[in-house]
Amino acid sequence: MTKISRPVAETITPQRVREGAGVHLQRSMPGARLDMIDPFLLFDHFGSDNPDDYLPGFPWHPHRGIETVTYMFAGAVNHRDSIGNEGTVEAGDVQWMSAGRGIMHEEMPEGRDGRMEGFQLWVNLPAAEKMSPPQYRDITAADIPLVTTDDGIEIRVIAGEIEGKQGPAVDIAADPLYLDVTLPAGRQFTHPVEAGHNAFAYLVRGSAEFGPAPERITATAPNLIVFGEGEQIEAESADSEARFFLIAGRPFNEPVARYGPFVMNTREEIEQTLREIREGTFITEGD
Ligand code: FE
Repeated sequence: MTKISRPVAETITPQRVREGAGVHLQRSMPGARLDMIDPFLLFDHFGSDNPDDYLPGFPWHPHRGIETVTYMFAGAVNHRDSIGNEGTVEAGDVQWMSAGRGIMHEEMPEGRDGRMEGFQLWVNLPAAEKMSPPQYRDITAADIPLVTTDDGIEIRVIAGEIEGKQGPAVDIAADPLYLDVTLPAGRQFTHPVEAGHNAFAYLVRGSAEFGPAPERITATAPNLIVFGEGEQIEAESADSEARFFLIAGRPFNEPVARYGPFVMNTREEIEQTLREIREGTFITEGD
């Protein structure tokens, strides 16, 4: 039986914002038109050929209640955290960090041959896991399976599965799919997305059509494409190469209380978090 293709519900053009100590980035969510795509809370695209736009970085800051996923295309991010991890996320690598009850870290971008480009996604944690111990996963480019189809489509599998290849990001509450898809000119790509999960694409390069005919929409990078309900997504490139991420996950349908780097379920939990930061008890011995 043919699967039902998900229509495009909305396309979002990212807005320019400054974050951290003054890093210029393009934010697709949250924004005026799109607050979140449960369980996804934020999607940022940072990158510039001008070091002044990114060298200020993201100095020492806390997180609680979420997972932050950083994927690098060019350049690198030097990283240190309160649970003793230290390292560099290089081009092609992914850092999948679960802040749980609390982590403090520093993320400092660095150019390579004058280039730096990366992405950060925030994945929510369900109420039952928001106060779990923090966990850090370092995924190198070599850990990410690359699937090449007969017609030359390249898919890097960060989370989820395609043609029997499983992405390295497993055992995550949101049960995420995170594919990095490169379509040569004039190719069509179809991929199943579990019914009931929420899905979006982020078009990084080129232009492509999304959704089922005849209601396809044409998107041009950079653009975030929100899909409606259905069982699969369809994308097709025009006369040049297109590259996009396909991201999906299980919605938690829980109340969201967010304040900067903290995402909890209630206002009281946010206030408790701010109290711990003030009193110096946010990070305790043994974390
Ligand atoms: Fe951070």
